[in-house]
Amino acid sequence: MAQENAAGEATRPAENGTFDAVVIGAGFAGLYMLHRLRGLGFTAQVYEAGSGVGGTWYWNRYPGARCDVESLQYSFSFSEELDQEWNWSEKYSPQPEILAYANHIADRFDLRGQIVFDTRVTAATFNEDTDTWLIETDRGDRVTAKFCIMAVGCLSAPNRPAFQGKSDFRGPIYHTGEWPHEGVDFGGLRVGVIGTGSSAIQSIPMIAQQAVQLTVFQRTATWSVPAWNEALSAEYLKDAKAHYPALRAKARARPTGFYFPFNIQPALQASSEEREQQYEAAWRRGGLPFLGAYGDLLFDKSANDTIAEFARQKIRDIVKNPTTAELLCPHNVFGCKRLCVDTNYFETYNLPHVKLVDVSKTPIERFTKDGIVVDGTEYMVDAIVSATGFAAMTGSFDKIKITGRSGRTLAEKWSGGPRAYLGLASEGFPNLFMITGPGSPSVLASMIQAIEQHVDWLADCLGHMRDVAANSIEPLRENEDAWVAHVNDVSMVSLRSTCSSWYVGANIPGRPRVFMPYIGGFPVYVQKCNEVMNSAYDGFVLKGARSNNAPPRVRFTERWHVPLDIEVISPAAVAAKRVPVV
Ligand code: FAD
Ligand code: NAP
Repeated sequence: MAQENAAGEATRPAENGTFDAVVIGAGFAGLYMLHRLRGLGFTAQVYEAGSGVGGTWYWNRYPGARCDVESLQYSFSFSEELDQEWNWSEKYSPQPEILAYANHIADRFDLRGQIVFDTRVTAATFNEDTDTWLIETDRGDRVTAKFCIMAVGCLSAPNRPAFQGKSDFRGPIYHTGEWPHEGVDFGGLRVGVIGTGSSAIQSIPMIAQQAVQLTVFQRTATWSVPAWNEALSAEYLKDAKAHYPALRAKARARPTGFYFPFNIQPALQASSEEREQQYEAAWRRGGLPFLGAYGDLLFDKSANDTIAEFARQKIRDIVKNPTTAELLCPHNVFGCKRLCVDTNYFETYNLPHVKLVDVSKTPIERFTKDGIVVDGTEYMVDAIVSATGFAAMTGSFDKIKITGRSGRTLAEKWSGGPRAYLGLASEGFPNLFMITGPGSPSVLASMIQAIEQHVDWLADCLGHMRDVAANSIEPLRENEDAWVAHVNDVSMVSLRSTCSSWYVGANIPGRPRVFMPYIGGFPVYVQKCNEVMNSAYDGFVLKGARSNNAPPRVRFTERWHVPLDIEVISPAAVAAKRVPVV
């Protein structure tokens, strides 16, 4: 039956096909998964809610959006030809270029034909008789697949706080994570930005260039380090490409999955003068590597206090109005929430038309037709930018009714926080996989590396299941419980577990407080995944296999056999948990 969209126009007919695999999402994870599935000869279909590929980079088109892991590393590594032929224009490339890269991947690897756009998966239901998933969409599709692969993204479900009086506001309200494709002209407008996380940090300096008045509503002051972004010259690229495989290998051996200079020395072993010099040099390098100034900054509070004070002083040096400067100075652990990387963020508060409103003690009261009320004062704005982030890690899972064995839903199972073995699969949900799921390094690593490693592992797993004619695979409860406990346990070593970040779900009222990503370091995690594979899926049950214990034919995972770079493991962290802790 032909479907109609909201405008009543006829659209494509609903589908009832059968596939080996259905992949949900066409960001980098969905694209690479499809590429691997095709390479293995599996039939596959990808459903994507957006009208194009790219995921994050399709949706987040706000002014100033760019990556904060250097582009040469924030990119796929599975094809040396791809590495050699693609040219990044900047150290941290802007959103349009990253989106162009995603489109290039789709075209170069001929993926578009198997992606169904403008279609949101609404339900996935496991059939225990056939060991298959029924996948349903908002366009009436009802397709069956042996494997259901969640490539739905960790930061893809926008958080829209329920501000009172929202519908009274006469102007437009934009969310950074769903930015209009045609762009927004803030010329001549009074703009209010809510939030001071990474999206706000990037967009505020750009919006300030257009708006006649900009009011920023800040709940928690944010730590941010200058990007010192720059164009990449042809000579630089040539040289980098000549050494690309070595860079990729070094990156994989790092706890964060990307390479940067790292000083293993504990901060307090240095004199205060040495520390000052070290921090100054790291500040000059800028970006996330600033946290590599010393080895113990994220698990020794006294060490952290030293980098925090250095960064506060930088804010005081930059921001001329002392009251504004103090408001902008964070007092939580440095790097506890995701560290921001900016271009002229703090400098923007020196502009006469930019105002900072503290909503930490007196929250936003309500929207009115003309503005935003805080503590009885109405701030007049013509447009509002909600830079309020995402229901991280599990938000896009929550929007799909996923029903596993015995009619149990994933939402029921995860009501106390997500539970997954290695962040790859969850007991009770056979043949359902997640790419960068909770309990994997995901958002604590350079995500494209994390995605690639998961996809390669999954591709090998699916290939193995076909080799041994297995009907289903599912983690064992005890292994899943042990892994979830380990993820939680390791997180306690890190100061990152101490603040109300989206890593612990604390940005959304009512969410269980659980540290969701795996903080024990990318190589340690990769090693664990490899061990599981090499032991013919220890911790998983394969049903119907000709031989459960046949060693898998490893096709892709081999390239993830990387040694941990022991030079970056802090001795104290090792002593505590025998993992590097990122
Ligand atoms: P996504 O890119 O989020 O793609 C998921 C896709 O699934 C989306 O297109 C979505 O529409 C689709 N989808 C979800 N649910 C459904 C459904 N039910 N039906 C159909 N389709 C669905 N990471 C880094 O490592 N470095 C960075 O510099 C960096 N910068 C970032 C900047 C921004 C602004 C944001 C928001 C995130 C950034 N990240 C960064 C994290 C980023 O999300 C990942 O790097 C990566 O792009 C995730 O890819 P993905 O394919 O896993 O998920
Ligand atoms: P975020 O980090 O969660 O920031 C959201 C901001 O909105 C926070 O300042 C938050 O305050 C504020 N907020 C939320 N609800 C509010 C409310 N009811 N009232 C007032 N303020 C409220 O979200 P994000 O900036 O979109 O970034 C999310 C993640 O995406 C990042 O951490 C990063 O991983 C990724 N990202 C990366 C880049 C990049 O540089 N490449 C850019 C954007 C995003 P509190 O802190 O008090 O909760």
